[in-house]
Amino acid sequence: MARFDTKKLHAGYNPADHNNAVSVPIYATAAFELGSVAHSDEMFSFDSWDPLYTRLSNPTTDALEGRLIELHNAAAGVSLASGMAAVSYSLLNVTAGGGRIIATARLYGGALDSFTQVFRESNVEFDLVDDPDDVSSFEKLIKDDTKAIYVESLTNPNATILDIEAIAEVAHKNNIPLIVDNTLATPYLLNPFEFGADVVVYSATKGLSGHGNVIAGIVLESGKFNWQNGKFKQFEDTPYFLRAQDGSPRNYIDVFGEGAFTGRIRAIHLNYLGAALAPFSAYLVLLGVETLSERVSKQVSNAEKIVEYLESRIGKEVLWVKHPHAKGNKYSELAKKYFPKGAGGVLSFGLEGGLEERTKFLEAVEVWGFQANIGDAKSLIINPSTTTHTELNPSLQKAADIENATIRLSLGLEDADDLIEDLQQAFDKAFA
Ligand SMILES: *Cc1c(COP(=O)(O)O)cnc(C)c1O
Repeated sequence: MARFDTKKLHAGYNPADHNNAVSVPIYATAAFELGSVAHSDEMFSFDSWDPLYTRLSNPTTDALEGRLIELHNAAAGVSLASGMAAVSYSLLNVTAGGGRIIATARLYGGALDSFTQVFRESNVEFDLVDDPDDVSSFEKLIKDDTKAIYVESLTNPNATILDIEAIAEVAHKNNIPLIVDNTLATPYLLNPFEFGADVVVYSATKGLSGHGNVIAGIVLESGKFNWQNGKFKQFEDTPYFLRAQDGSPRNYIDVFGEGAFTGRIRAIHLNYLGAALAPFSAYLVLLGVETLSERVSKQVSNAEKIVEYLESRIGKEVLWVKHPHAKGNKYSELAKKYFPKGAGGVLSFGLEGGLEERTKFLEAVEVWGFQANIGDAKSLIINPSTTTHTELNPSLQKAADIENATIRLSLGLEDADDLIEDLQQAFDKAFA
């Protein structure tokens, strides 16, 4: 089997099947000719996976799914119109109308906010762990109707790392899956399936595509979780539309096998709620994935240089620096296990002073973009407390470890010396 860097260029796509096109074609079509009535019958009864309508599948999105499935050695996947669709469809799929999810407060602000704004309306409640660094605090929250543990492998903005192997053990001991948002890590730095994750979700908007030019998401599954353990009746349902051609009833496992989780997302959430990824967007993500390793390794090395520079400013403009590469960082041991290639390109630091200095500083940077995004080829800067995490009430901000002084950096591919000079001139202006 090919290695990661070969797969990121070739997996999931065979030019011979597409008029020998070297670059994956953008199939700009809503529907596909059904051919014979027999073929149509097969497609409409899930006995053929040929594309029939782009909301459900399309050769361009198929290529993206195939590539990411192979990059993770996963069983199946489904691409979606955004990272939020990937998060919400996964959580809707595992709860199916009720139950509880264990999560941490160190999550993407939008995901955390959706728990109260959207999921409460679907009878889904979230139990947030007291201390994400203590595995027993996950175990303590398990209840009869707990359906999953949901975490991020590497978190934003403070680059904390969770011990996902230990958390997966807690999940499996209790017959529930571990769902991991691996957006910040990207599969280049970490494959959560190797540490027991059952479902992995991405905002492909970020590092996977890597150029800040597309909104996209994907859900992948290991194929190893037993959805017939009695806790997830939704996978054993036999809705009429899943019947075989001879009319006999089938459930999601009969039809989708090891791809039952993402198959059900495709059949239910994508089909009826409709957040389909556009083929053009899938093409942009595929193009980004071709250079994933090269981009992420430069982002990691840039992040490490910026960490060292910011540490040299502690006691001057900088209060603290949070990244596993920083001296004395609490996550440096976990980073050795989970992130041997580096703990990503996102970090945070505390800026001295108050609102006035923060405002002057953010408005003085010239190379860094002041944007609510991460994982771009360009370096970005933002103050999370009044932007990306502003929906969170003060106690949730505290639980997410976000201070007013927190400044988040997402490293791009520029020359690190220019990035450092730009920060220094902005510090000079803010503290003049
Ligand atoms: C951005 C992000 C999301 C949401 O993704 P969109 O593509 O913006 O919908 C989810 N999780 C994480 C960790 C993110 O960074």
